[in-house]
Amino acid sequence: MWGQASKVKIQAQLKLRLNTKDTATLDGWLWNLTGVWNWAVRKIELDAKGEIYYSPKDFQNLLANHGEKMGIPSHTLQGMLAMAHTAWKICFQKIAKKPRLKGKHNRLASIPFPDPFRAPKDGRITIPGLGRIRFHKQDIPEGKIKCGRIVKRASGCYLCLFTDAQPNAIERTAHGQIGLDPGFTNLLATSDGEVFDHPRELEAGAQRLAQAQRGHDKRLAARLQERIGNRRKDRNHKLSRRLVADNTLIAFSADNHKGVAHKFGKSVASSSHYQLRQMLSYKSPTSGAKYVEVDSKFSTMTCSHCGAHSGPTGWGGLAVRHWTCAQCGAAHQRDVNAARNTLIAALGSSVERAA
Ligand SMILES: [Zn+2]
Repeated sequence: MWGQASKVKIQAQLKLRLNTKDTATLDGWLWNLTGVWNWAVRKIELDAKGEIYYSPKDFQNLLANHGEKMGIPSHTLQGMLAMAHTAWKICFQKIAKKPRLKGKHNRLASIPFPDPFRAPKDGRITIPGLGRIRFHKQDIPEGKIKCGRIVKRASGCYLCLFTDAQPNAIERTAHGQIGLDPGFTNLLATSDGEVFDHPRELEAGAQRLAQAQRGHDKRLAARLQERIGNRRKDRNHKLSRRLVADNTLIAFSADNHKGVAHKFGKSVASSSHYQLRQMLSYKSPTSGAKYVEVDSKFSTMTCSHCGAHSGPTGWGGLAVRHWTCAQCGAAHQRDVNAARNTLIAALGSSVERAA
């Protein structure tokens, strides 16, 4: 039954205020853990050739007591081995590609802390092996902090905390029903007729990023990339909040756009859609909204007014923004029409009703 908020893992990030000594410690850990990762990835690969497979536990035991020798918290070392084990496991199951070795061009940037953290106190948080570390003031969600991870980014070091928490309920402002169609010329179209453009600031950011990349300014490029990502996330949070507050049913066209994204090289748009879908799916239950994903087959070519297959099709159809139904004469904006069909499909009547 929908409408019941269940506990979800919420991520919060604290920007750490590290002194020189702590920074040096972390760099040392990253160096050693890079070696551990590479060793683990090769070990599993070679042993698998000899038909030797490890359980996660057996594999972690191979380096029991090594943490102390390297000056790394033992559970962090084991967390690293567990990551390598999982990476191979999903590769063997053909879900993911072969894990890559880490090195100069593919740096290790994160350090796992698999144990629960104590809640921060007085602006400091206790991190295994580092002690009480100051961080830039920030609230974190109430609840038990299950585990964490230090991530090194262009703008500094962050501690990501994973908390089992009850997500905050979003206050309902309306009881609408809405269909959403993700696009490339537009970011998103809704069945209400609203069309969201790709944000300008992202385009401007992408231009500066391209400049930095051409100029081989790696540090600037990394910082710009991070900033663009943050803005996108912020926008998606606001948009998903609004959609959940205004609607009790939200239907999203599960994108068939993968091929399109590839053709146009616009993976940016699709990762943004993916993020939005995830946010909608975890925010909806917190305020009693239902979120569904609907197969988007035929949604573009079907007239949402009469159901005839009179709309644009195929690659050529991608250029058609506006069209008029040959059967009933209804005028359509291409993506808004698709969003309406998405809502119709979610409400249970078939998109193909009068084909
Ligand atoms: Zn029609």
